[in-house]
Amino acid sequence: MGYLKTTPNKDGFFGNYGGAELPPPLVPHFKEITAAYERLSKSADFIAELRYIRKHFQGRPTPVSYLKNLSDLCGGARIYAKREDLNHTGAHKLNHCMAEGLLAKYMGKTKLMAETGAGQHGVALATAAAYFGLECEIHMGEIDIAKEAPNVTRMKLLGATVVPVGFGGRSLKEAVDSCFQSYVAQADTALFAIGSVVGPHPFPRMVRDFQHVIGVEAREQFLEMTGELPDMVAACVGGGSNAMGLFSGFIDDEDVALYGVEPLGTSSKLGDHAATITYGEDGDIHGFRTIVLKDAEGNPAPVHTVASGLDYPGVGPEHAHLHRTGRVTYTAAGDKEALDAFYKLSRHEGIIPALESAHAVAFAIREAKNNPGKSILLNLSGRGDKDIDYVTETYGFGE
Ligand SMILES: *Cc1c(COP(=O)(O)O)cnc(C)c1O
Repeated sequence: MGYLKTTPNKDGFFGNYGGAELPPPLVPHFKEITAAYERLSKSADFIAELRYIRKHFQGRPTPVSYLKNLSDLCGGARIYAKREDLNHTGAHKLNHCMAEGLLAKYMGKTKLMAETGAGQHGVALATAAAYFGLECEIHMGEIDIAKEAPNVTRMKLLGATVVPVGFGGRSLKEAVDSCFQSYVAQADTALFAIGSVVGPHPFPRMVRDFQHVIGVEAREQFLEMTGELPDMVAACVGGGSNAMGLFSGFIDDEDVALYGVEPLGTSSKLGDHAATITYGEDGDIHGFRTIVLKDAEGNPAPVHTVASGLDYPGVGPEHAHLHRTGRVTYTAAGDKEALDAFYKLSRHEGIIPALESAHAVAFAIREAKNNPGKSILLNLSGRGDKDIDYVTETYGFGE
């Protein structure tokens, strides 16, 4: 049987990783979500409605583009990009947010809720809530609210309530804590929509399955364009949802090499990067077992990367598993390399990538010259409009 049908097991374990460590009041609610997902993922109505939404609202399928100018510039492998930047709202996150919204609707919930860091997940979820006529409650640290004003404005325009979180570091970790607290009190009527392949079971599996559409489309499109499968497939890894979406399309194709690209930030010193698999160790975070970056006390360590969507001291449990089995190779690219890729893709291809996605582009640029005659398919997980002010004010316009 194929990998996707057998992994994770029924308790949500990918090998040794995953599972659900929940506060007792939340146990029945996560059971309810798991049961609903298992039922609906086999329901013809649910699947048909999700297909309709993907085609007529999100604008799927997104294309695969051959990056000829970049390939010529690098010399070596042919580089292709799966264009999730062309998905509605400009990134892959809407793939799972629309599906989570649909799940909430079928479950009879009236509200979607989540935490957000830079605001990308908050905007995608607020979009889904508006579409389905659901309420939306987004928890966000006060520091992030000040830094990410345009996304706060977007969420409010879309009708979401943004709850400012003012305790502790006033950032993503506190926003998660705050949202969990608020959710406990309203779990009968609300769905906590986790924003990546992280969190307690069933989210790592469910979000992967909702993102699987990326890999299914890309495999078919690549075959149609070239008559063969790509030699190498690459994606950036924060929590790991865009990567699992693309990888899952090729996971049973043993000749296709898969690469996850983590953010190396400014150096390999703890605190300067968010390269969890590269430098972390086994541990628990936010209710599941995975690989974690820990400080001297064993708590989740502070992290840094120029791409705020990648700064998480954990990683989805499936990535920890695929690292241990060796099916996926994990590597890292630093801020400088990602910025260089950001400028190059903009200048030579007319595509301004999200800084997160620029890490996958950086990998392709680095590897192209070592792999003449081969092909590299990367996931362009999102567009870079959100990053242009920060990049040009901090680093200028590139060479
Ligand atoms: C949030 C985000 C990411 C990181 O999330 P994953 O779950 O690792 O995919 C990557 N790219 C973009 C554009 C994002 O918004």
